[in-house]
Amino acid sequence: MDCAVKTQGITILGATGSIGVSTLDVIQRNPDRYHVVALTANRDVEGLLQQCIEHRPRYAVMADADAAGQLQQRLRDAAPDVEVLAGQEGLQRVASLDEVDCVMAAIVGAAGLMPALEAARSGKRILLANKEALVMSGALFMQQVREGGAVLLPVDSEHNAIFQCMPPSFVPGSGHPGGVSNILLTASGGPFRTTPVEKLSGITPEQACAHPNWDMGRKISVDSATMMNKGLEVIEACWLFSTDAAQVQVVIHPQSVIHSMVQYRDGSVLAQLGNPDMRTPIAHCMAWPERIDAGVQPLDIVAVGRLDFEAPDLERFPCLRLAQEAWQAGGTASAVLNAANEIAVEAFLDHRLAFTAIPGVIEATLSHITVREATSLEVILDADHQARVFADGLVRGTSSLGELA
Ligand code: NAD
Ligand code: MG
Repeated sequence: MDCAVKTQGITILGATGSIGVSTLDVIQRNPDRYHVVALTANRDVEGLLQQCIEHRPRYAVMADADAAGQLQQRLRDAAPDVEVLAGQEGLQRVASLDEVDCVMAAIVGAAGLMPALEAARSGKRILLANKEALVMSGALFMQQVREGGAVLLPVDSEHNAIFQCMPPSFVPGSGHPGGVSNILLTASGGPFRTTPVEKLSGITPEQACAHPNWDMGRKISVDSATMMNKGLEVIEACWLFSTDAAQVQVVIHPQSVIHSMVQYRDGSVLAQLGNPDMRTPIAHCMAWPERIDAGVQPLDIVAVGRLDFEAPDLERFPCLRLAQEAWQAGGTASAVLNAANEIAVEAFLDHRLAFTAIPGVIEATLSHITVREATSLEVILDADHQARVFADGLVRGTSSLGELA
């Protein structure tokens, strides 16, 4: 008798990043259920090489063609059975392979959109960390999920918490969940929640990347510091839970123990709690509707002691307001918001832009680029491109940067 049980094949897009590494950790804890089919990275040859040696995927993809060549050389002796692919074509291929059941979408930024869409088209179980993909093209993305017969599960800790608090029959894309009146989206407030406002202009990338509760990639760390992350998450929640931004209330909760809440018509509020460790939402999405070991320390609620809540300060964090306005504007406005933010954050991380100038770049770009209906991928990618060119011009001072800070 053949006793072999079919394990789930997984592709990790963005394997060398913070989410990618946590995903590999959860897979390693559950070898009877999962195996790695493909790992991808941008240009971190050394990082992907080590992961290939350890996890022996069938495929390794580097978005950068030169890096792919280097990886192939290095794998020749170390792990010759791993097939190396390159570029967007390679990323899209490993997102749609027949032997892949599950795709972890954990590339950072707009670069993750096309492979995530490919996973949707191919009917995979998509574990979505790459919120920017949904912010850019929510309507199109959700349509692809429905048409491809994919299952979209949120890895972002807040959205995963909301999903866990939804009625059991609910899955993202199945319409507005019955009985739900409000979503309470929690936010830590980032490292500068209480920093005197006059000190914010001198903030360095290192300070911005030192989050009090979460250990994350650099781009999302800066987004957390400006609270653009929460703005992107409001938009993400609107698409995932078929709701409007007016029903998504942002609540500052500095302890990051409650990961978000759902309020029902009858007055009930359901919350999901846990230590701030992304392996919990990753494992939840991987095993849903079952539960598996994630290696996360059990929550010691007595040690936590107290849970605080306050309203966000929109003066201190204009990015949150800008995201809400982009959602209201609809169409391509969210893609413009996202693109301008990516350009501004990159410039800040490269010491080319002050921390406090980030919202100015985004606001100026949003008012410059005409909003169009997001009817096709071409329209969305065009808006993304226009916004990048304009925002980059602002950062380089060819437009009126003086007005920004
Ligand atoms: P990270 O910077 O640590 O890792 C990013 C990964 O994407 C790396 O593997 C990198 O090689 C790859 N990558 C970068 N640019 C690429 C490109 N142009 N083409 C192909 N691959 C590219 O980022 P992260 O913190 O792991 O975040 C990944 C995504 O998950 C982001 O969208 C982020 O918002 C989201 N997310 C992260 C966390 C967290 O705790 N880190 C929590 C919630 C959501
Ligand atoms: Mg989050």
